[in-house]
Amino acid sequence: MLDVKDLTIEKAGKMMRNGELTSIGLVSACLKNIEEKNKELNIFLEVFSGSAFGGDDALEQAKKADEIIKSGKGGKLTGIPIAIKDNILINGRKVSAGSKMLENYTASYDAFVIKKLKEAGAVLIGRTNMDEFAMGSSTENSAYGPVKNPFDTSRVPGGSSGGSAAAVATGMCLGALGSDTGGSIRQPASFCGVVGMKPSYDIVSRSGVMAMASSLDQIGPFAKNSEDAKIIFDTIVGKDEMDSTSVDFTSQSFSSGPRSGPRPLGKALSGSVIGVPREWLKDGVDKEVLENFEESLEKLKKAGYKIKDVLLPYSKYALAVYYILMPAEVSTNLSRLDGVRYGLRKEGENLPGRQAGVFDTYKKSRSAGFGAETRRRIILGTYVLSHGYYDAYYNKAWKVRHAIEKEFENIFKDVDFVMTPTTPTTAFKFGEKSDPLQMYLSDIFTVPANIAGIPSISIPSGFSKENLPMGIQFTGPLFSDESLFAIEKDLRENK
Ligand code: GLN
Repeated sequence: MLDVKDLTIEKAGKMMRNGELTSIGLVSACLKNIEEKNKELNIFLEVFSGSAFGGDDALEQAKKADEIIKSGKGGKLTGIPIAIKDNILINGRKVSAGSKMLENYTASYDAFVIKKLKEAGAVLIGRTNMDEFAMGSSTENSAYGPVKNPFDTSRVPGGSSGGSAAAVATGMCLGALGSDTGGSIRQPASFCGVVGMKPSYDIVSRSGVMAMASSLDQIGPFAKNSEDAKIIFDTIVGKDEMDSTSVDFTSQSFSSGPRSGPRPLGKALSGSVIGVPREWLKDGVDKEVLENFEESLEKLKKAGYKIKDVLLPYSKYALAVYYILMPAEVSTNLSRLDGVRYGLRKEGENLPGRQAGVFDTYKKSRSAGFGAETRRRIILGTYVLSHGYYDAYYNKAWKVRHAIEKEFENIFKDVDFVMTPTTPTTAFKFGEKSDPLQMYLSDIFTVPANIAGIPSISIPSGFSKENLPMGIQFTGPLFSDESLFAIEKDLRENK
């Protein structure tokens, strides 16, 4: 049987186009891996296989892809099995956002990114487990039980897109989509030893993606390396009339930074200047993570990069800003899930008083449908948006957000990228972070890029003594997305 664990999208694509491999063969190998390991790891909430899908299951899709490839019209993603996070809509299929609230909800249209993947001939293989409504860093908030880290099943895979990261790491697919509001692609990528990338805000349409915090959410790719991640990225970017905020990335160039304009993948970025905010690394970062970070810096120096210390004093407050703006947006976005318009419904009692029956239905449905973390954030968000506190919290947080955006804009006049570890620790154990504030701190390095709307990538950088993957993160100016992919290649080739 074909070994897909180390097979890249690039290589599989070439093999299929050369007639050495079929999509049916490739998808069957992934399905076999799923069959063997999914029970234990709980990565997929649903696998698109079996006759229930009326001609649209993974093998049927693969068969169609093989025909396209045979006719010579196959592209880089044709026939490639891709896993989809459970908050992205696929027409006619269930999509639950890891929540009981939407357990039986079926999507009535394709998300923009799904349309793009279908057009490219990719094979959608299943929907992956996640923290409820993408809120969390461990998948422990999933209503369907957590995903286990494939490197150590007593540990979390990261979150919220933990299922997508683990699916790529275990060869259950060759690439995956996730969403990143504060780190949910990059942090699990780091914990599972794969590449994960959050694109610049607005260059990937959010149409058909369940909103968590709309001013921060972005869809992005998971893959084994940057070439593969870029193949997915190239497929899903683009202006979409269904998302009025989306921009055509290809017509944009970025002008800040010592060098400007996107650089093509494959071209070494040697000579680029990397900024390191040393102050961020002072507290709370594991020794092993720091050592690994320093080793990566050395490798980059050898590859011809220049390293420079930078100060980002406002960005220190990014996490605080995030935990005001994000819950505010969550509380509004999730208000539509009320047992009337969408989702789980628990009939209320017909109590006396105007609309009391409806209110009781809201209350009962939302209490039964939402998990503890979701309820916490709705309450927090409602609080910061309430009349007496709006100015003190929400408005102030927006001011600091603007200061952080400016700060990054300025820093990119001096350096090309900002580099940090992706996370302060390696994958932690289940139950280890029972205090929500401790959990929130695992996003300390990833959140600033969402606050500033700029692109950021997590790249595997080795293993700890306990054989747990580690990752480093590069963040660049707005629209510098393509350059970020090139660093991974440089680093890989300068081992
Ligand atoms: N872990 C962060 C949170 O809990 C980020 C989530 C995300 O990016 N979707 O909010």
